[in-house]
Amino acid sequence: MYENIFKYQECDMEIFKIKKRMQTTEYKKIISTMVQKNKDIQRDKDAMEKEANILLNQINDVKNSINNEKNEMESLESQYNENKITKEIFVSKEMEVSTRLNNLLKKLVKLQKDVEIVNKKFDELKKNAKIIKINYKNAKEAQENFEKNELRAIQKLENDKKELSKNIDSAIMNEYEKYKKDNIMPVYVKLYNNECCGGCMQKLSTSQLSKDDKRIDCEMCRRIIIKE
Ligand SMILES: [Zn+2]
Repeated sequence: MYENIFKYQECDMEIFKIKKRMQTTEYKKIISTMVQKNKDIQRDKDAMEKEANILLNQINDVKNSINNEKNEMESLESQYNENKITKEIFVSKEMEVSTRLNNLLKKLVKLQKDVEIVNKKFDELKKNAKIIKINYKNAKEAQENFEKNELRAIQKLENDKKELSKNIDSAIMNEYEKYKKDNIMPVYVKLYNNECCGGCMQKLSTSQLSKDDKRIDCEMCRRIIIKE
């Protein structure tokens, strides 16, 4: 009476094993690592773009200031040429302007170097992104190939189950499905050593064992023990 449900249960446990195997492949690990790395790269890229924008704005500001100082210098020169200011004033003002101009130029060089550094980092990021993409693609393909075979095995087991179910009492079938839903697997176990639950190995009481029933409910693990 229980022979077929035992076989049916075997198929289910094999399917469970195969599904677990599919979920825990090396490829799956690589795929999830690559997805994470790609996220990290996107985050770094966003941060770098922000940094680059800030630098470019700063460069623009410095360039504007440099132009202002150059205009100031020209204005001083024409004022001096037109005798509007004395030579002493011209020289001292010119000194001030050229000091400021020098500082601005130094600042510009520094900012341009910073931009170069960001660009280099950006190139490196792009290179890494490419490698990640390739690794992801390869792992994904390998996983799909692996799954193809496993899914075929599952399909075969599903067919076996279908065949078996034709010869399983519907009450037993319903009971099995209900227990399975509660994650009690295997549902049906055999009596072990004529005295223990074949699931959790708990020793059964004499009163349980002496019952005439073909089946005993294990009080420990809720499994159904079938006496042969
Ligand atoms: Zn048990």
